[in-house]
Amino acid sequence: MRLAVRKFFCRNSACQRKIFTERLPTFVEPWAQMTLRLIAAIQAIGLSTSGRLGARLAAHLGISTSWMTLVRRIMDLPTPSAGLVTALGIDDFSFRRGRR
Ligand SMILES: [Zn+2]
Repeated sequence: MRLAVRKFFCRNSACQRKIFTERLPTFVEPWAQMTLRLIAAIQAIGLSTSGRLGARLAAHLGISTSWMTLVRRIMDLPTPSAGLVTALGIDDFSFRRGRR
């Protein structure tokens, strides 16, 4: 894929930033090597499978990626809120192993 974006040059000599590059926030993040849609597809594959299996499935779907990329993209997802805690378990085996 070849993507062309516009660049704008500031004529103000006091301006710290001289070049402004057009952003495409619904398509790709700045400096990203994948589109947002591809990232979403990789995350969906990673969440429904696992690392190596997901990489094999992605290859069948024509997505060239590695298991580590799948894992990294899953780790990029926000952690869902735990919500209201109604019951809390304590791992007493960890206490016996010296962990807190
Ligand atoms: Zn400026």
